[in-house]
Amino acid sequence: MEHRVANTSKRNFPSFLDAQKLYQTQLLNWDMFLSNHLNQFKAEIKFVECGSHRIILKNLPHRKQSTTAKLKVVPNERPCILCPQNLPREQEVLKSQIGFNLMVNPYPVVNHHFTIVNEAHVKQNFINHSLMFFLLAKYLEGMTLFYNAPGCGASIPEHHHFQAIPSNILPIEASNSENPWLCPNIYCESSDAMDVAIMISNAHSFIEKMNGENYDKFNIIGKYCNGKFMAWFIPREKARPACYALEGDKRILLSPASLELGGLWVLPEAEDMGKIDDKIVKAIYNEVCLNPQQFEALQKKSKEWNPL
Ligand SMILES: [Zn+2]
Repeated sequence: MEHRVANTSKRNFPSFLDAQKLYQTQLLNWDMFLSNHLNQFKAEIKFVECGSHRIILKNLPHRKQSTTAKLKVVPNERPCILCPQNLPREQEVLKSQIGFNLMVNPYPVVNHHFTIVNEAHVKQNFINHSLMFFLLAKYLEGMTLFYNAPGCGASIPEHHHFQAIPSNILPIEASNSENPWLCPNIYCESSDAMDVAIMISNAHSFIEKMNGENYDKFNIIGKYCNGKFMAWFIPREKARPACYALEGDKRILLSPASLELGGLWVLPEAEDMGKIDDKIVKAIYNEVCLNPQQFEALQKKSKEWNPL
């Protein structure tokens, strides 16, 4: 099936404005996407105050498939839904000249939620594409990009991709060194994309050395704003909290990935909205993020390459 493909001939990659135009067009010609888009505005929203920060809870039933996605994918078990031949007929693609294409996320969590997809069918791997992540963030200034490692929220780990939403929706973006975010993370900032990519690579290698194995459990949130690249590297211990697998009232269907770690908790089940308070937020963050001993060692080491 042929997809309408727009080539961004003048620029290497679409801008936020190009992306917004694509979003508008897709609302007009894709009923399922329009319906999912409208669901966001009907969604119940609650706030949980956690000290000087706030967590946003959002009930989105159309995200259930993503929340409950298998953590391990057997190669060739299913058609890859990010490869061009398997995209829905209505999905339009903004092609670029840098090996990544932009499309709307058909199951948006917020208004203007996009997927940035590698042209090649290669596995999710941030370190191999870290500089590209920040270059894309610059092209998409005004948007915040994020990456979910396999097993830490990537529902299609077999095909490398990033996601993007408008900046300043995620509460983590309001944190700084005087007012640190609620979950353990390494914040990096520089006017040079390469600097930030290297800082993250250093942090990643350090955890790999501590663990003595391939380390592929983390989330990254990043953006380019006022001449600066910013990133939050969030190393993880676990993909899901224990409450995901409990039964009855104790169960919370939550699969924390970049958005949730950044303070926007997507809950597909309406009854879970009333189960979460500040204590639960802290307990889940502590449970799924890197353990305190390793995080302390990482934080200490990171001062050598990251003055922040
Ligand atoms: Zn693919």
